[in-house]
Amino acid sequence: MAELEDSESPSRKYVLVSGGVISGVGKGVITSSVGTLLKSYGLRVTAIKIDPYLNIDAGTFSPYEHGEVFVLDDGGEVDLDLGNYERFLDITLHRDNNITTGKIYQHVIEKERRGDYLGKTVQVIPHVTDAIQEWVQKVATVPVDGSGLMPQVCIIELGGTIGDIEGMPFVEAFRQFQFTVGQENFCNIHVSLVPQPGNTGEQKTKPTQNSVRQLRGLGLSPDLIVCRSISPLEESVKQKISNFCHVSPKQVVAIHDCTSIYRVPLLLKQQGVLDFLFKRLHLPVKPGSCSPQTICKWKNLADRYDKPYQPVVIAIVGKYTKLEDSYISVIKALRHAALLYQLKLHIKWIEATHLENEVKEEDPVKFHEAWKTLCDSQGVLVPGGFGCRGTDGKIAAAEWARTKRIPYLGVCLGMQVAVIEFARNVFGWKDANSVEFNPSTTHPVVIEMPEHNPGNLGGTMRLGKRKTLFKTKDSTLRKLYKNVDSVEERHRHRYEVNPDYVKEFESQNLQFVGQDEVGQRMEMLELKDHPYYVAVQYHPEYLSRPLNPSPPYLGLILAAANKLNSFISRGCNISPRLSYDYTSGDDDEDDEVTQALYANSQ
Ligand code: GLN
Repeated sequence: MAELEDSESPSRKYVLVSGGVISGVGKGVITSSVGTLLKSYGLRVTAIKIDPYLNIDAGTFSPYEHGEVFVLDDGGEVDLDLGNYERFLDITLHRDNNITTGKIYQHVIEKERRGDYLGKTVQVIPHVTDAIQEWVQKVATVPVDGSGLMPQVCIIELGGTIGDIEGMPFVEAFRQFQFTVGQENFCNIHVSLVPQPGNTGEQKTKPTQNSVRQLRGLGLSPDLIVCRSISPLEESVKQKISNFCHVSPKQVVAIHDCTSIYRVPLLLKQQGVLDFLFKRLHLPVKPGSCSPQTICKWKNLADRYDKPYQPVVIAIVGKYTKLEDSYISVIKALRHAALLYQLKLHIKWIEATHLENEVKEEDPVKFHEAWKTLCDSQGVLVPGGFGCRGTDGKIAAAEWARTKRIPYLGVCLGMQVAVIEFARNVFGWKDANSVEFNPSTTHPVVIEMPEHNPGNLGGTMRLGKRKTLFKTKDSTLRKLYKNVDSVEERHRHRYEVNPDYVKEFESQNLQFVGQDEVGQRMEMLELKDHPYYVAVQYHPEYLSRPLNPSPPYLGLILAAANKLNSFISRGCNISPRLSYDYTSGDDDEDDEVTQALYANSQ
């Protein structure tokens, strides 16, 4: 195992990942994959995402514009890339691991107001650039892997592309940083795009050349140039990039579009990235000391993804269905669950408003298409959301799942709509609602929480990791969570189920099987006598991991594939190698699945 000093030592290693040409080429996945490789050597790795915008955090972002807001244990509302780092590296990050221009300026201005700069003119260089360097060095020491030990390597992803005005103070900070920490402790991976324009399909290197020139002009030299392309990079193209960008061919790494992100660490490893970093950063580990299990696990995941055994169709009824990034953690959690059983996940997106009766008049085609998709699905998921639009459609989907006995998972808003639907259609309280959507309803089954501070949208929610206690042993969720007494999951909401109505709901089989420590906050709901009608007030997707899927999501996938009962009867052992005991029960094809899994893992 690697040993670096645990003290605040200059030998902590920093890897800056910058981007060229365009954003959105998978810099986040490459950052996470490099971290995964380093971790496979036994190194403790942390990650920082820099977003050069003026917002303090991602909390007030519209999912349309930036995709999902990711929530951390400490309640930090951060960029979705931190979700990638947590999932790949299996670590727990903190709000300070996401740096924004807004946070840096706030910090500098607060210092200025306190008089910390002793009357000096406060400037971007050196005050802002110093603040950036100090922030990075401080965050790099915070333990993230549960061992309580400081990380040995810190990977920093700089958002945007080289040359953006917003990114300039950060680039300058890192230009200085290479000298602050020493060249042997800092390296730069530049992720670029090699386009293949339609007519010829020829791989073009010019955008990469320009972007590397710009990077060098700003004082940073790429140690590795990672080229993203549609098809594998031709050798001559690699050579050309090496010639024109003043790096050796082994410093040009090609990552073409592949079947799943789980292949990226493997592609990087094949091209000697680890050996290169080992020499370049003087990592105190030997090449070859890599834990074969870690890499094998990723290969196994990638193989399972490529050779699915049986399809499972899940409808996601949401509001931001045009931009998949809005639900990225939800999608990942579903995928992790499907992968565990080697199922091929088909997600069907349903725009919630299309299920509503008004649309039937205005656009019958959309209405019927949406309902057909819902009817064709084996499971229904209503994810989190804000605002009134689409809630009636979500309520209709919850009713469909409840009455037709289709597996249902409601997450946050998805739990609130399940409660509203039940109140309206089982109790006949036609105006039952959440006060978020109708403040003057006579049946406020979902009410505002004390944390909500109306008039302010930023930082007014119940956020982060909170405890839920199971109230009963007779609970599917409890079994899926391995019969523990309590769980800790991450929250992000302003409203909650009204405890005044709980007795009435429970008298009709809608059980609140998990509550907070004082029994005031309803956290988990289950409908008895239904194959799987489950909803949770928290967001279990944030803690799902490729090799350790989130239990509520696993329940949905297994119920949809008609495998939940046999899984539960086998003790819900979800460890990938040990839990695959397919020798009996309702799954005729089990033996073949077992064989396929073992074949892939060899
Ligand atoms: N809008 C609801 C609330 O604030 C649900 C939030 C969510 O789904 N994250 O409570």
